[in-house]
Amino acid sequence: MPRRLFGTDGVRGVLMERLTPELAQQLGRAIGAYFGKGARILVGRDVRAGGYMLKSAVISGLLAEGVKVYDADLIPTPGLQFNVKTGPYDGGVMITASHNPPEYNGIKVIGADGIEIPHEDEEVIEEYFFKGHASKLPWRSYTYDPIIKHEAIENYIKGILDQVDVDLIKGAGFRVVIDCANSVGALVTPRLLSRLGVKYVSVNCNLDPLFPGRPPEPSPDTLKVAAAVLRETKADLLVGHDGDADRAIVGDDRGRILWGDRDGTLLSAFAAEVWSELPRRVYTGVSSSILVEDFLRPRGIEVVWTPVGSVTISRMIVKDGGAISGFEENGGYMHTPHQIVRDGPMKTALLLFMLATLKKRMSELVDELPTYYPIKEKLPATREQAQCAVEKVKEHFANFRQVTIDGVKVLGEGFWVLVRPSGTEPVVRIMLEARDPEEAERLLNEVKSIISPCLGGEQG
Ligand code: MG
Repeated sequence: MPRRLFGTDGVRGVLMERLTPELAQQLGRAIGAYFGKGARILVGRDVRAGGYMLKSAVISGLLAEGVKVYDADLIPTPGLQFNVKTGPYDGGVMITASHNPPEYNGIKVIGADGIEIPHEDEEVIEEYFFKGHASKLPWRSYTYDPIIKHEAIENYIKGILDQVDVDLIKGAGFRVVIDCANSVGALVTPRLLSRLGVKYVSVNCNLDPLFPGRPPEPSPDTLKVAAAVLRETKADLLVGHDGDADRAIVGDDRGRILWGDRDGTLLSAFAAEVWSELPRRVYTGVSSSILVEDFLRPRGIEVVWTPVGSVTISRMIVKDGGAISGFEENGGYMHTPHQIVRDGPMKTALLLFMLATLKKRMSELVDELPTYYPIKEKLPATREQAQCAVEKVKEHFANFRQVTIDGVKVLGEGFWVLVRPSGTEPVVRIMLEARDPEEAERLLNEVKSIISPCLGGEQG
């Protein structure tokens, strides 16, 4: 059947346009039918507008199907996932639109292993949803009230601390700037840093559904204020979360904001030494730089390219029997001994563990990586327009090596280009890198002119 609800990472949409309480309640029923009567489901949400309303509607649908509901309420997505994985739960539901603009919200479903359910299973839920599935149980089945799980965040923080050498980090005297995006990262990362003996300055760490500080997506652009604070305070590291804190975009001690494939590469090389029992391979989306291969291959670490989307990466790692890590250029990093999902606070602790162990500054480590200049851009496009753009790029660069598992990635001598439809927004994403900034700019203009006929261009 056609996929009409779930995108690459749950159901997303603008609040009260697509994401209504009516939809959330019917989806709650469908999710309840999928897990089955008596299943134990942990529910949580990020700070977004409508989050409580949607959560309540989902809970109502779950209860109607005879599901036992546990409520963690405000919590980062990886916090909910860690509790589902380690606690007595059959699954979870998270109300979040992650990095999307503030007017969005979303709903995603977590399996008993703490990972988002496979896309095939989402289709099962869609089927229940579109059939209008609604159980009618005997009245005696409806005597169960949700249990509030106040301890979920503390469980999660303890789980992260178990992965690192706390005393070593405490001894290093780090200073960190943390930008919480005004959302649920604020409930974990500042407390985590305190427990690691780190002095921190917090930016946008008050909870506010209007996201007054910056948009929920962390990037060099949206972390400018945090970077200025880092320079002013001469801090060692900057960490910026997205709306549900499964991502962490990092800035080094010189205030340079890094894409996640950079620090993901460094963390993977480090983790390969500390957790030497793990299979020596990493998984990263086609949107990552070729520098990942340049750096890790000589260290005997295999790089597996994947379609974009963290759920795909998680599920591939499980299927293949493990890995050192999975990561994405958008700041998602999976530390597999902890859990095989993206986790911003875990990534933060791991970075500090790496810096304390290697006794190097972040900027020194970054300068050991091969230099490429990245540009990322997104242009409004329907699915069809984006697909047309992909085809144009394939034709234009027909003489180059191409990876076509997700959109098209062109690999040239000293440059690469990726053009793909977004899975969560009506846009076409362009990512590219070249050896110098002028060449990168020239390449961007070339790609834009190639795809402009698809996007309506002059005809407007
Ligand atoms: Mg996210």
